[in-house]
Amino acid sequence: MPSEAFSQPPYDRAVELLKSAGLPLPDVEPGESSWLQGVVHGLVELATRDGLTGLANRRTFEGALAREAARIARGGDPALLLLLDIDHFKRINDTHGHVAGDAVLKAVARAIADQVRPMDMVARIGGEEFGVILPSCAVPFAHSAAERIRDAVAQACAVTTDGVRLQATVSIGGAFAGDVLKADPVVWCARADHQLYQAKSEGRDRACIERPVVSDVSADERALLFAWALDDREGEAQ
Ligand code: GH3
Ligand code: MG
Ligand code: MG
Repeated sequence: MPSEAFSQPPYDRAVELLKSAGLPLPDVEPGESSWLQGVVHGLVELATRDGLTGLANRRTFEGALAREAARIARGGDPALLLLLDIDHFKRINDTHGHVAGDAVLKAVARAIADQVRPMDMVARIGGEEFGVILPSCAVPFAHSAAERIRDAVAQACAVTTDGVRLQATVSIGGAFAGDVLKADPVVWCARADHQLYQAKSEGRDRACIERPVVSDVSADERALLFAWALDDREGEAQ
């Protein structure tokens, strides 16, 4: 017998949200604990994924970037952040319509996701913008990783309902975070964004990666710097 509580707001609102997003509803009677688990699972999907491409959304990306920055600050391996922006995407929408533009966004998302390791995170962070976090990425592999993604996007295509094949290119900006001074998430993003701007201004369909500065900060010095950065943040919070 379904409990009355499960047909009241916010439960019926949650069910409505899942239905309108096309997510499956739990295949059991409302009121059973597995029903509630299924609804919570669906809401988590809604809150963390981009509805169009199925990639992580911006909120998930920001959380992952902050965690990665904290890991690096504690002495973890350097990580690479790539920011990607589809070139002249407005033209695709203007020429072929928004639905075709959406199909291109999905094809680009799939092409990027196919090129990364399971430990990497790919997210749609804006309309035609994507972010990729590559933890423990060795500096000499940065260019080939970015080039592999750039090339895969250029090869990918979306087919419109009337059979037109659409292709797109991306510009990519990348920056490493290797120690506590470089791992502030906001600054890290700004550095990658600067490289993206550079890739656009050099002609698009290319990757620019900030040249990493070799750090000679020892593990002891890093621990001191980390303590100092934490003190500083605590001071700001007061
Ligand atoms: P650039 O090479 O300088 O990046 O040029 P651009 O045309 O890609 O850049 P601009 O910022 O002028 O255009 C981005 C376009 O992306 C405009 C907007 O309508 C479109 N867009 C944003 N989100 C979506 C979406 O979800 N679906 C579709 N189809 N288009 C979108
Ligand atoms: Mg853009
Ligand atoms: Mg663009």
